[in-house]
Amino acid sequence: MSDHYDAIIVGTGVGGAAVGALLAHAGWKILILDKNKVVGGRCTSYEKDGFVVDLGVHLFGMADKGSLGDVCRKIGLPDAIRWVTIGTATLMVKDRRMKYSRKNMSASVPEEEQKNLERLFVEVFQLSDEELEKLWYVPLNEWVSRFTTDPLAQSFIERINGQYFCVRGNEGSTAEFIKCFREVVQARSSAYPVGGCISIPKAYIEAIERFGGRLLLKAEVSKILVEDGKAVGVKLKDGSSFRAPVIISNADIKATVLELAGGEHFPKDYVEKIADLTYSYHAVALKVALSEKITDDQLMMYMPYDQESAVEKEIEQMQEGIVPDRVGAMITSPTNYDPSLGPEGRQMIFLGTGCPPRQDWRKWEETMLNSFYAVYPQAKGKVLWHRLDSPDLVNAYAGEDGCIIGVGQTIDQIHERRPSVVSPLPGLYFASAEAGGHGIGTELAADSARELFRVLHESEGKV
Ligand SMILES: Cc1cc2nc3c(=O)[nH]c(=O)nc-3n(C[C@H](O)[C@H](O)[C@H](O)COP(=O)(O)OP(=O)(O)OC[C@H]3O[C@@H](n4cnc5c(N)ncnc54)[C@H](O)[C@@H]3O)c2cc1C
Repeated sequence: MSDHYDAIIVGTGVGGAAVGALLAHAGWKILILDKNKVVGGRCTSYEKDGFVVDLGVHLFGMADKGSLGDVCRKIGLPDAIRWVTIGTATLMVKDRRMKYSRKNMSASVPEEEQKNLERLFVEVFQLSDEELEKLWYVPLNEWVSRFTTDPLAQSFIERINGQYFCVRGNEGSTAEFIKCFREVVQARSSAYPVGGCISIPKAYIEAIERFGGRLLLKAEVSKILVEDGKAVGVKLKDGSSFRAPVIISNADIKATVLELAGGEHFPKDYVEKIADLTYSYHAVALKVALSEKITDDQLMMYMPYDQESAVEKEIEQMQEGIVPDRVGAMITSPTNYDPSLGPEGRQMIFLGTGCPPRQDWRKWEETMLNSFYAVYPQAKGKVLWHRLDSPDLVNAYAGEDGCIIGVGQTIDQIHERRPSVVSPLPGLYFASAEAGGHGIGTELAADSARELFRVLHESEGKV
């Protein structure tokens, strides 16, 4: 195979794989590398005892109708990812189960506050683009408190914000929250991919190969080669090297700039900005394999408290090193979307929640199990096995200290304050949940890929 490439992509996470597919379809000769032996970074899956287990606890807000599906359509393979749309989502507040809807959230808060929460939801859909523009750098909690100071009402919004962006409401961007909430509600296409999370990056990688590109796994890049002030290639840990006029990093932006390329090749203020970037927060995920199907639930938002500000209480406790007895969680059952993800008749349930890094994970295991049994008491005696996937595992797969999303969508790192997909070092670009883009997790990464594709191919012509 020829060693001439138009672009080399470092990392097979969603952003890297998506931009690779777009460029390969447009005729670019692509080499895509990953240090891991599987593709997908944070959006990957592994096998255990006949189950396909996702690394995280994933659900895709816009799925086919958002940036993930758009990449497939742009490369002429609209069905490359097969989606199963969510039927109904459930909200469980303490021990009360209901449909996860704006109406039920409003009905759960004290009567005198219900109108205020409803007013907030109406505002979300009525704000003009001009008014929305003014809210990029307004912290979400500040905006919410213009409508309601009720702790439970605030918790609802903070939990949705937490699920979307994995940053706290006092740092989260109001405009990014409103845009994503609107898009998800209006698209009504939240879904899960047949075959598990890994199906998404796999579909893009298969497209790269189909359009003549090459994938190398277990290929860790140790250096981005810079000559005459331009990125010109990569050197792998095993000593081999590859050259191309365009190098796209899907890896950690800090590691890319400060270590792989080297800070000396960038302006000082850019290096400082990159070094100061902060990541989204971390998560633990409990994976429970069951001997039989115990629920039809596909998606649940679980909140263990109904009175006080649950999120604030949990976060305060965690910061003091106290692991709460129960935690709020996003709960999914991938086998209810795609039964082939487990042995026949069996069920897999995931619980995911935000947590600080470097914890005593045995305590967390207990807490997560408490939460699991609080939601599904009927699971007693039917658990085949469970395992807790901590940020350490995410770090091993994708780096960035094991954070959930990438560079946090906080008010100081959003919109025009986000790192650009174009670096100041000629020849070096980014496509990931770390630079450019808008949206939730994988959709942010795929949007970053679309943005870079526009820069590299559509706007300027083939480099
Ligand atoms: C627990 C959890 C739950 C989540 N839930 C959701 C959800 O419900 N919905 C959603 O949309 N998103 C969710 N996400 C977030 C989403 O998975 C990520 O934001 C997204 O996948 C990040 O994609 P990325 O393109 O930035 O690449 P990453 O996933 O960061 O991948 C980077 C890749 O680069 C590779 N790499 C790094 N360094 C090198 C090197 N030197 N050489 C070669 N390769 C290298 C890594 O091996 C990795 O494969 C969740 C994530 C986690 C961890």
